[in-house]
Amino acid sequence: MDTQNSTAKLPAQVRKLGYYIDGAAREAGDRKTLVREAPGYLVPVSEVALCTRQDLEEAVTAARRAFDGGAWSRCDAVIRAKVLMAAADGIRARLEELAYWETLETGKPISQSRGEMEDAAGHYEFCAGAARLLHGDSYNNQGEALFGVVTRQPSGVVGLITPWNFPFIVLAERLPYILASGNSVVVKPSELTSTTTLIFADILAEAGLPKGVYNVVTGTGPEVGQAMSEHMDIDIISFTGSTATGALVLKASATNFKKASLELGGKNPQIVFADADLDAAADGVAFAMCFNAGQCCVSGSRLVVEASVAKGFVARLKEKLARVRIGDCLDPDTQLGAVVTPEHQAKILSYVELGQQEGAHLALGGAACEGLSGRFIQPTILENVRPEMRVAQEEIFGPVLSVIPFETAEEALQIANDCPYGLAASIWTKDIDKALQLMRGVHSGRTWVNTTIAGGPGQPMGGFKQSGIGREAGMLGIEEYTEVKSVHIAIGDRSPWVG
Ligand code: NAD
Repeated sequence: MDTQNSTAKLPAQVRKLGYYIDGAAREAGDRKTLVREAPGYLVPVSEVALCTRQDLEEAVTAARRAFDGGAWSRCDAVIRAKVLMAAADGIRARLEELAYWETLETGKPISQSRGEMEDAAGHYEFCAGAARLLHGDSYNNQGEALFGVVTRQPSGVVGLITPWNFPFIVLAERLPYILASGNSVVVKPSELTSTTTLIFADILAEAGLPKGVYNVVTGTGPEVGQAMSEHMDIDIISFTGSTATGALVLKASATNFKKASLELGGKNPQIVFADADLDAAADGVAFAMCFNAGQCCVSGSRLVVEASVAKGFVARLKEKLARVRIGDCLDPDTQLGAVVTPEHQAKILSYVELGQQEGAHLALGGAACEGLSGRFIQPTILENVRPEMRVAQEEIFGPVLSVIPFETAEEALQIANDCPYGLAASIWTKDIDKALQLMRGVHSGRTWVNTTIAGGPGQPMGGFKQSGIGREAGMLGIEEYTEVKSVHIAIGDRSPWVG
């Protein structure tokens, strides 16, 4: 790896980040700040303001004022569509800058960041169309004297809390859906990765979004995130992050019974049958376990493989993983990037240790990469894993695969579902009946057949069981942020009750 070249591409100075309220960028001032070190290069690249509850108050007040003012909440959907379309154009115009900062702060490969920016633009375009299609229903079947209308209206002020692993694409999978019906929003990005969420404030302003509709309060979860979840004037809280934090958010949201939309963790099975195209399956499994260095809610972290082909399949997988290009995150050829913090790296490696103590065999990797400029972990395979082991049940969130063999399709399904999570699954077989039966039975909001990590704005995503509540994206993703109102309209004279 050419570390000389990488260093030359790093920013000359640390980028100072403030926050954004009511259409204006604000500086950190005398607030505490947090310096973010690029995980791929171990140099400081940005410094973010750690906002206070008072800052959040101002943001919520601005969002409420914008909502009540009606410039966005009551405007023609055609106007919203134009703004969302212009936002997509703005993302494409600044794609290189956005991708660069996403890679610096998260440690993901630049090719992946560029792809995520392109996908993000697609969500704003989808919502530009969908905003105009949002409609209610009418009921002309309630007798002579009554006519019914069901209408949808925006919910109000939405609090949006996002994680560090996909800062911009997670924002894009929620924000345009929130904006499409006319809501206002206060966003709290992860304190580790706030830059692209703040750059986007400029893009939205240039696109014509009225001031106060989009606000960003940077800071920590226990300070700003907790205060958002409890806030009496936030109508919906949309949280994406770990299941443990999701439980805190849900509890706090009871203060005013705000609706909570929760997108949480996963321990996603990749079920490989002997009759699959095993080379394509091995390629897919390798990609799904390494994507975003395994720090991905839909990461393919469990391999549930038919016993008769298990040994050969793991050998094929090892051969592919040996060729994965790891390192310089800004190099367009890099495939596997860095892990987010030293604490997280230690956690991943401790799971590898734990798996071996539980009786698993370390078939590949299991250590940090030596000689690279940042914090990287080798692709790792744990064999002889039993379904009840912690490495088969808990989210490791690194490029670590737990291999569990099965004998029958029933057993494969049982293993796949024997887990507290239910976010995603992939099924690899050439037998369409088997694929459809498994697809119906598996506990997963997102299910792939002979592919993995694929998706688009039209199809909602979300989880079964402890992977979350609600769905994001698609038309359902817009409806999630609306209130339904049933209107009953009398026709002609009412028959009197007391006369
Ligand atoms: P996290 O739960 O630690 O943090 C997520 C966000 O919540 C951050 O902005 C954080 O500052 C904030 N937060 C922390 N404590 C809080 C509190 N008490 N109240 C309110 N907010 C608080 O998660 P993470 O480590 O940033 O992200 C990784 C997790 O996110 C993984 O479990 C992953 O599976 C999940 N995730 C899920 C999806 C999905 O769509 N299901 C997508 C991406 C990530």
